[in-house]
Amino acid sequence: MDSGIRIGRILGIPIHLHPSWFLVFLLVVLQLWRQLVAEYPAVEPAWRIGIALVTSGLLFGSILMHELGHSVVALRHGVAVRSITLFIFGGLAFMEREPDNPRAELEIALAGPAVNFCLFAVFGGLAGLFGPGEPGMAVFQWLAALNLAVALFNLLPGFPLDGGRVLRAILWARGRQPAQATRYAARIGQLIAYTLVALGVIVVFTDVVSGIWLALIGGFILTASVAHRRQATFEISLRGLVARDVMTDRVPMVDASLSVARFAREQLLRGDRWAMVLAGGEPRGLISRTDVKRLAPELWESTRVVEIATPIAEVVMATPDLPVAEVMRLLTERPANQIPIVEGARMLGVVTLQNLLQAIETRCPEPLRPDATAPAPEGRVL
Ligand SMILES: [Zn+2]
Repeated sequence: MDSGIRIGRILGIPIHLHPSWFLVFLLVVLQLWRQLVAEYPAVEPAWRIGIALVTSGLLFGSILMHELGHSVVALRHGVAVRSITLFIFGGLAFMEREPDNPRAELEIALAGPAVNFCLFAVFGGLAGLFGPGEPGMAVFQWLAALNLAVALFNLLPGFPLDGGRVLRAILWARGRQPAQATRYAARIGQLIAYTLVALGVIVVFTDVVSGIWLALIGGFILTASVAHRRQATFEISLRGLVARDVMTDRVPMVDASLSVARFAREQLLRGDRWAMVLAGGEPRGLISRTDVKRLAPELWESTRVVEIATPIAEVVMATPDLPVAEVMRLLTERPANQIPIVEGARMLGVVTLQNLLQAIETRCPEPLRPDATAPAPEGRVL
């Protein structure tokens, strides 16, 4: 969901439009236009299109403002915001990491709905500038009502909605472990999701589009809340373990001058997926199967491993006493398959995704799925 068309930057945050957003934008414009045709037949056709476009723009502008609300407060708490994406079900603000404390979590979560409450007041005020029977009054009332609905819906207390984060912050502040608080809020999120799906099924008999819409949003929330709950369960089951407990202490090494072809032949084919690249005994980088695959095979013979390896300064590393849950976060948040474990200048070993899966399988009550360590969506919905 990090993808899509980049339309610009606000406060240094790249703003993206996901392909699915265009569909929902078109649907909203069409719906508004149809309503204008039915209720204001005297308005010129060109004006109707204009009003429908501007109103839809203001609606999605409101959702963008909601995400910016989260983002501004996140930045103030030192949490970087990678991007904001508008998609079919609203908006997502991708944060670099989770907040450090419950207060930050609470403030970041409340900032989004707070923006919509403000916009509710602003649009309500603007509606008052028009007389009854004028389309201006109708569209501003509609925008005010939708902002109120967005604020209230997002305050429902289940993950991944903002209200779920508020609940998590409160539980966390009252002494629960963050992962336990997440699991609790995610369970309520699941309940909300099932309710939305059930409502959708009931509504579909009277209003097909709204019914399908509710069910789809329910499905989306369900997927996200299950992912959060599972990730929290893993974190809980990994508690007490540190990197040293799960690492493999064999570190495959290759000389910087080795050709990529020989590396592929001698290491990759024998099962190593990566190796440290050394020059004069000093680590220079890390080469992985992914780096090799990115290089055209005809260049393998003439390219040295050091040329395509990730430079050592960019390799994400961890210390042996880092909690495993943190190592898992590093592995899933960065596109890395292994985290070298270093103590001072000494390389002790490495933690791979495989190591983590083994640890989880041993200690976790929940059955393991292939996508088990896929990161739960970081974004805030709507
Ligand atoms: Zn939000």
